[in-house]
Amino acid sequence: MNFVSTNGKSPAVTFEEAVLRGTAPDGGLYVPEKIPPLPPRYCQSFSGESLHEVGLDVLSLFIKDISSEDLAEIINRAWDFPTPVSRLDKNLFLLELFHGPTLAFKDVGARFMAGVLSYFLARDDKRATILTATSGDTGSAVAHGFFGAPNVDVVILYPSGLVSRLQEHQMTTLGGNVRALEVSGTFDDCQRLVKKALADQDIRASRLLTSANSINLARLLPQITYYVWGAIQWMKGFSENEIPDLVVPSGNFGNLTAALYARKMGARLGRVLAATNVNDVVPDYLTSGVYSPRASVRTLSNAMDVGDPGNFSRIQFLCGNDVSAMRKEIDAARITDDETLSEMRRTHERSGIVIDPHTAVAVAAARSRVPAIHPCIIAATGHPAKFPEIVRKATGIDIPLSASLRESLGKAKLSIRMPNEYEELKRLLIN
Ligand SMILES: *Cc1c(COP(=O)(O)O)cnc(C)c1O
Repeated sequence: MNFVSTNGKSPAVTFEEAVLRGTAPDGGLYVPEKIPPLPPRYCQSFSGESLHEVGLDVLSLFIKDISSEDLAEIINRAWDFPTPVSRLDKNLFLLELFHGPTLAFKDVGARFMAGVLSYFLARDDKRATILTATSGDTGSAVAHGFFGAPNVDVVILYPSGLVSRLQEHQMTTLGGNVRALEVSGTFDDCQRLVKKALADQDIRASRLLTSANSINLARLLPQITYYVWGAIQWMKGFSENEIPDLVVPSGNFGNLTAALYARKMGARLGRVLAATNVNDVVPDYLTSGVYSPRASVRTLSNAMDVGDPGNFSRIQFLCGNDVSAMRKEIDAARITDDETLSEMRRTHERSGIVIDPHTAVAVAAARSRVPAIHPCIIAATGHPAKFPEIVRKATGIDIPLSASLRESLGKAKLSIRMPNEYEELKRLLIN
């Protein structure tokens, strides 16, 4: 299978080229030239045991330049944590994606990408720099996923003062092949700087440069796996007859893109609902038909504070740049910080379960569905232990820090401060 640019002006490339480039030369994002179907009734007839098996079945349909044995090995090494489906309330279920080392779903994609990239670089005897902008969770997942990976240097840009203390420590204390740049600006500024650097021929001449943002296919494609897996687990555990809806708490919309791909491939899923915080460019687009990116606003679900979602062009491409086609694919809901806190409290009171603010945005959106009679799987993207202050505020509960979080808090922050200026980033990268 080849991958084409959403802008349609660059040649189709292999998976390896798409991963190594990050974005297409015409400034577009790489997408699969077609979405391959799973075998008929795949979910109904799956008899395997693990997410790994589903991953191999799904990813071999897209990735033809890694042998099946090597792909299996990359998958098995990357996903060494569970992804269960649990019941939250009568009709609401959680697909728990937050059991990886940095306690967010991004570990799934980042760890897979680290494996794939190291594999390609070793095979070609090359070295690469991974450049990534983060609103909080990407940075820690990428830093941990790539820490110590052979042939790879990692540079992470994050907005100064706009990520939580835990997120910051997770990405700035590793050292080694991971450099963290603390930018005086917002996440959107960081993302702009990264995009510009990726397109800069001077930098590209000095090194092989790519991105580990969710714009990179090697992060996006593996995420399809857990939606297929979630649909299967739900069928096995809860109902063979009904088809569950799916809610995805969304910021840069990579996770939602993967969900749409999964459904298109044949995963047994009903309506897909995108839940955002007040950074609601996409819900707004679905209502008005006009896409108007804007500066992001800070919220409690900060990993979703995105004013110009990077993956939106992929969704548009999937829908033939037609808003009415997109309305058939996606519903959307916008949830405020007050509603997020109330949801965390309500969920705890009703079910005794503590959820993180990102998951809470999705749960609140799920409860707002009309009609609410369908069962609904919610992508639970973050672990509550990562957001202790917000959890305490909402529920009065103190959650203990995990051992890995305690460890990173004890280490010194090693970030380099920089202004929101492109020339400064260029200087740091070329030297
Ligand atoms: C990144 C993140 C999101 C948003 O995911 P996108 O793919 O960027 O839409 C949601 N929840 C958590 C916990 C995250 O870290």
